[in-house]
Amino acid sequence: MINVTKSYLGNKTKFLGYVDSIYASGWLTNHGPLVTELEERLRDYLGVRNIILTNNGTLALQIAYRALNLTGSAITTPFSFVATTSSLQWEGIRPIFADIDKATWNLDPQAIEASIEADTQAIVATHVFGNACDVESIAQVAQQHRLKVIYDGAHAFSVRYKDHSVFNWGDISTLSFHATKLFHTIEGGAIVTNDDALAVRIRLLCNFGIVDTDIIDGIGINAKLNEFAAAMGLCILDDMALILEQREEIASRYVRRLADHFDLQSQQPHSQRNHSYFPIALRDEDQLLRCRVALKDKGINPRRYFYPSLDTLSYVQPQTPQTESRALSRRVLCLPIYPGLPRHVQNTVIETLLNESSQGSHLPTEHIWPQVAASLLLDDHLSPPAPAYKRIY
Ligand SMILES: *Cc1c(COP(=O)(O)O)cnc(C)c1O
Repeated sequence: MINVTKSYLGNKTKFLGYVDSIYASGWLTNHGPLVTELEERLRDYLGVRNIILTNNGTLALQIAYRALNLTGSAITTPFSFVATTSSLQWEGIRPIFADIDKATWNLDPQAIEASIEADTQAIVATHVFGNACDVESIAQVAQQHRLKVIYDGAHAFSVRYKDHSVFNWGDISTLSFHATKLFHTIEGGAIVTNDDALAVRIRLLCNFGIVDTDIIDGIGINAKLNEFAAAMGLCILDDMALILEQREEIASRYVRRLADHFDLQSQQPHSQRNHSYFPIALRDEDQLLRCRVALKDKGINPRRYFYPSLDTLSYVQPQTPQTESRALSRRVLCLPIYPGLPRHVQNTVIETLLNESSQGSHLPTEHIWPQVAASLLLDDHLSPPAPAYKRIY
């Protein structure tokens, strides 16, 4: 089965060399030499001021909220991985959804502003599929309303905005180094901030609040990365140029063949992306389901990232329905993209999709909609399709 991604494994001999060094030192975790080395190298590679490694990207989010002392509510995106929302709820912060921009698929700054409530303290935005958010407009909204900004940068490793790491925006950015991500440490994550005092606090939170052997300064948790995980990261970091180059090549082939037939995510101006995913928006959910079956028949397993729209989760109700996000989440399919994806497999993906897109109803969905709506008025699953938008890539 060809999946949407395949975990990258660096050079095995190099990895085993690091394992030998761990056996020699006997130092397995608790900020060992390999974690220290990886932090230093990532700080340089990304061009950020402080980076603290964690054992996953979900705890990185939770610790970010704790470090900023957030309570009340936070405005967040309904179009992201579930952890963006669940981490807020888990920390007792009420998620309020604002809708996404229908071209970039990221939080719409105007919608953020319109959703702010009396107890709102923060904005939690995701650089969806590695497409940078409109960071300047978000900064403006945040400043006007005295809100903290946390970016879920789980998809945005190595993404740049105006020639600097996109992680330099906001109060804190969090990363995930899960095995399915572009850069990974099997399981892992990181917290990035420009604020040195905040960085000190974050390190304490990640290690039970322990200052040194005799002093505990406040409540903390265990979010430490281990040495074996750091070894994997060190190996993969050596190959980043190659990884990004191969992804770029696969993405541009998809764009060349598919851009005239499907809607693609519009890139945020002044940003560079990393092609951590290759999402396309089908005409409607019906076409998406047909394409998925046709691909599965050929041993290809695309994924519905992100479905369902997070404003429909049972544990965050009641919420105002976010129509753009709900419409888009029914249409998006992520196609296989990873270094080493065989060209003939990519061709099969492309041809299967083109074949499906040339079939089926050509009646514009707007014409079918009134009847469907009348018969299924109460079905939350159906709402008017998103209007078609210009394809810009
Ligand atoms: C993967 C991911 C996370 C969670 O990261 P883990 O390391 O799996 O805990 C959070 N947010 C987004 C957008 C993700 O894609």
